[in-house]
Amino acid sequence: MTKVAFIGLGRMGHGMAGRYLDNGFEVAVWNRSKAKADDLIARGARWAASPADAAAGADAIVTMVADDEASRTVWIGKDGAAATAKAGALAIECSTVSYRHALDLARELRQRGLVYIDSPVTGLPDAAASGKLTLLVGAEAVDLERARPYLAPLSATIRHFGAVGSGTVYKLINNLMGAIQIAGVAEGLAIAEQAGLDMKLVLEAIETGVAASPQVIRHSRRMVARNFAGASFTSALRHKDAAYAVALAESLLAESPLVGRAAVQAYARAKAYAPDDDEGKMIEIVSRPKGTKA
Ligand code: NAP
Repeated sequence: MTKVAFIGLGRMGHGMAGRYLDNGFEVAVWNRSKAKADDLIARGARWAASPADAAAGADAIVTMVADDEASRTVWIGKDGAAATAKAGALAIECSTVSYRHALDLARELRQRGLVYIDSPVTGLPDAAASGKLTLLVGAEAVDLERARPYLAPLSATIRHFGAVGSGTVYKLINNLMGAIQIAGVAEGLAIAEQAGLDMKLVLEAIETGVAASPQVIRHSRRMVARNFAGASFTSALRHKDAAYAVALAESLLAESPLVGRAAVQAYARAKAYAPDDDEGKMIEIVSRPKGTKA
């Protein structure tokens, strides 16, 4: 049986790990807090005492953790996966990390004999649990071919952008554009609310107008209803992605990205307000009427 180590069982990783079990892989799992693994263990996963324990003997190691720091910890920290991974094993990083980190980690893991693929994803936790993510891959073509059997349980949609790091570049611009849109929607709706417009009509106009994108439509409905049940993407994660994207922009562009920087600032406020709540809660900050205190 083909062995996969899955590391990071948060909102996204938990469902993704389950996909390997559903598809007949032998799966070892590790998460910083063990409770999130309980039902996966009941479904047949082996609980590993550390990322290193999970990676021992695995043909592919897949990680889905919060950020650069978490990624560094689980791959090359003490008891990290790289310590035991066998030569030639696939190292598939699905977390959204910075471009710099993706390149540094790829170099480090290659030196240790692993085959690194960056494969950040788009799609919400329900897509992760049902194998309907979109995978944004940066890899040598030959490495991607080897990785396909390990990517297939996660998705049928693989967008191969080029060499290692290119999947991360696309993911970061995607999420920066999303951050700008969502922060803009919050401000637009807040103005309309305070001006006393009929918000049902505003929503209808947005949904059929030229400013709409799937992102705008989804968030405007939730913001107007103040319905943030089941946070799927948090303000802390959105802030992280926008900040990584702006850092990349600043390494490539002569002009500092003004709009991107504004989105980072907007999400820094949302993160300070409620880091682990849904990113759409931005509306609660910006809709406070003039003259009222925070
Ligand atoms: P999450 O629910 O907050 O899970 C974060 C995971 O990272 C948890 O397993 C957490 O462990 C682990 N972690 C955090 N810091 C760590 C550290 N220092 N050492 C070891 N493990 C650490 O986040 P998520 O929504 O699943 O997102 C995971 C990744 O997917 C992020 O990079 C995010 O940007 C990306 N993403 C998310 C979505 C989405 O809709 N949610 C969509 C696309 C991409 P604990 O369980 O112990 O806290």
